[in-house]
Amino acid sequence: MQTAKRVVIVGGVAGGASCATRLRRHREDIDILLLERGPHVSFANCGLPYFIGGVIEDEQSLFLANVDLFRERFRIDARVNAEVTAIDRQNRTVTVLDHGTGECYTEDYDDLVLAPGARPIRPSLPGIDLDGIFSLRNVPDSVQIKNWISEHKVKRAIVVGGGFIGLEMIENLLHLGIHTTLVERDLQVLPPLDQEMSIPLRNALQQRGVAMYLGEAVSGFERTDGALQVSTERGKKLSGDLVILAIGVSPESDLAREAGLTLGPRGHVVVDKNLRSSDSHIYAIGDCIQVRHIISGRKTAMPLAGPANRQGRIVADMLAGRGRFFRGVQGTAVCGFFGLTAATTGVNEKALQLQEDIEYSAVYAHPGNHVGYYPGATTLYTKLLYDKTDGRILGAQIVGEAGVARRIDVIAMAIQMKATVFDLEESELCYAPQYGAAKDPVNVIGMIAANEMRGDLGISHWDDMGKDGALVLDVRDANEVAARALPGALHIPLNDLRKRQDELPRDKAIQVSCAVGARAYNAVRLLHNLGYRASLLSGGEQTFSHLTSCHDSSDACWAARDKMDFLLSWEVMRETLGADDDELKQLLSTMQNPKVFVDLPLENVSEAFRRMDAIEVNRGDTIMEQGQPGDHFYIIKEGTFDIWQTGIYDDEQQKVAERSVGEHLGEEALITGGTRSATVKAATDGVLLRLAGDDFQELIKKPSIEEVDAERVALLMQNKHKILDVRYEEEYDEGHIPDVQLIPLPELRNRLDELDPSASYITVCLSGKRSAVASMILRKNHFPAISLKNGLRDWPHPMVSEY
Ligand code: FAD
Repeated sequence: MQTAKRVVIVGGVAGGASCATRLRRHREDIDILLLERGPHVSFANCGLPYFIGGVIEDEQSLFLANVDLFRERFRIDARVNAEVTAIDRQNRTVTVLDHGTGECYTEDYDDLVLAPGARPIRPSLPGIDLDGIFSLRNVPDSVQIKNWISEHKVKRAIVVGGGFIGLEMIENLLHLGIHTTLVERDLQVLPPLDQEMSIPLRNALQQRGVAMYLGEAVSGFERTDGALQVSTERGKKLSGDLVILAIGVSPESDLAREAGLTLGPRGHVVVDKNLRSSDSHIYAIGDCIQVRHIISGRKTAMPLAGPANRQGRIVADMLAGRGRFFRGVQGTAVCGFFGLTAATTGVNEKALQLQEDIEYSAVYAHPGNHVGYYPGATTLYTKLLYDKTDGRILGAQIVGEAGVARRIDVIAMAIQMKATVFDLEESELCYAPQYGAAKDPVNVIGMIAANEMRGDLGISHWDDMGKDGALVLDVRDANEVAARALPGALHIPLNDLRKRQDELPRDKAIQVSCAVGARAYNAVRLLHNLGYRASLLSGGEQTFSHLTSCHDSSDACWAARDKMDFLLSWEVMRETLGADDDELKQLLSTMQNPKVFVDLPLENVSEAFRRMDAIEVNRGDTIMEQGQPGDHFYIIKEGTFDIWQTGIYDDEQQKVAERSVGEHLGEEALITGGTRSATVKAATDGVLLRLAGDDFQELIKKPSIEEVDAERVALLMQNKHKILDVRYEEEYDEGHIPDVQLIPLPELRNRLDELDPSASYITVCLSGKRSAVASMILRKNHFPAISLKNGLRDWPHPMVSEY
């Protein structure tokens, strides 16, 4: 067959490979040459974090195609290790460096497609080139990271950047049992979300023991005593065996720049709507180009696989002689972290605040992913942004455990179709109990916005809480208010509102809140019909708690460190106590969520385990009732139990969760000592380990560990007491009390012979948790020991640093 023309494609992965194969599907008479600098074409870059974590076990499964397949199936000349080093636009040739042979050669083209992608940003900071600092782009990078982890027996990693790739890397490092620290310049994780929407993710990171430094920019790296030290601009020094840089990408546009193509302000190749660059024979696609955002209308970069693949197809159509244009991007993206999914489409509120030409409104809803009566419903934290003038949807963000991506995809499609909130309200979406609700979460958020658009529902935002003397009215039930009250709010439960309406002012605006907004909506409508000026505080107390959590980033970091302390202590305690007490060991290992004890003295917890008695229960038995007082705590030894709560969107009880062996019941009593937040019924016959009465009171009230205040330590040290620091070495190096002995807690049992048998010890750590366990171990081994209360965080005297 005669060749009509020759197309050369630079870059053989997402955009380049899609373009090449579609072009072949269109035309047999075009000569296609695909040049890829790396050793693989068409590999799954999105799977790399999971390959590192061992979730994807086989490296081969990352390769979606190879040069043989391109040749045999598509008659495409695909070459690997073939880097294009220059473009001669005049003569329409490219220079290629063969990394295998070291030789350079030229290739002609009639049309050229640039799909070179983007490279991870590596800022020129001191120490950036030290061994052990990696970024992740391709399979060789991931193999290097895997090798480093196994060769250096990595125990602590620092991930710089809390975006999509950063979070995926953290999850996978945790899978490998590596303690991980996150440093993020922004005050939130996952910056494409609005800050309040990122709170559930931040909480999930905290719960996994990830130490977080938010609002901290990295300023340099060093290697000291075999460990990597990461310094931040605010003077923090963090230590790890591995650093992953995931702080974004910059376009690979050097070739385009040197060839004189027009570039945008951040170095992206400028293309027209047909994806042609400033040279009509050169197209560009993927991460290297600047694209139009379909909502904001602004030029932006969207380094995602979806747009790159679609652009590849469009350019193939253009090259085959079919007119096509690229509609633009809308930023639909999703990310998972240990079962929690965060997804977004369109623009976020941060971007809208900067966009003066769009008048927007935002609403929140927190419905279940499916009906509450079907087991396992979980909450979808949902935010919708829309144009106030015509209801056009501008963006949405959802975070939750299940059903997140499906809802965002529906809204993404609605945005593509320029749909409005009225379309969401009317969408007919599939429903059966295990999948959704007759009013799907997409309908619900659309209905709230549509109600506002029609003037049926005034929406107030939490920033405006109490503004201009407005009265804040909380219509939740008494037990919910007892658990967490809204500051300054008048409390009248929804069911009492009609009869207590006289307590409300007629001359003031009333802002109504409940748990998530549904009961408040009913209250707003009732008050409206009775002639009051009422509006809904969007998202209820749930949104309020997310918004208020935004402002405590430093506290969040401390909380994460605390949690890490706790988990570590728990591990050590389980080992230590389990060693000589089989029954206890078994109990400790069945306990699936030791974190409910996080604020209790660990020694009390171990005592409590010893005192639990087993009780048999029958299917249908009510173990506890929502709103009732109760001071029992249970661990499920056998059977399954259902958790029922007053409904979110109705006032009847709905089943919200199921718990089984190893899980606990009645944990709220550990925190409040009182009111039950849910009704619990036995779904099967079962056996519960119960802690009740005096034993329970002991657990929550009386610390049995002997602790000492910082002020008394100096006194005791004059009296034969020695200080034993049980933190990790690098924490110790950051700052410690002068002249103290260091033995990290996990090593303590094996290094007891290093202690002075005639001394009494004061154990210290960061928060007081590890030191409490350490003093327990010492006492079991006949060393007099007490623990420093609240740890070194509140230490009032000077400390010395090893840096
Ligand atoms: P790439 O797919 O990066 O391909 C460009 C290729 O060009 C590279 O292989 C490069 O070696 C080659 N090249 C560069 N210069 C030259 C040259 N001069 N000569 C020859 N070859 C050259 N996106 C999502 O939507 N979802 C995800 O879950 C997701 N996860 C990701 C996880 C990781 C770890 C990474 C790195 C990216 C992830 N992405 C994800 C982003 C997505 O992979 C990219 O947006 C997409 O691959 C971009 O396609 P592209 O064709 O522009 O560039």
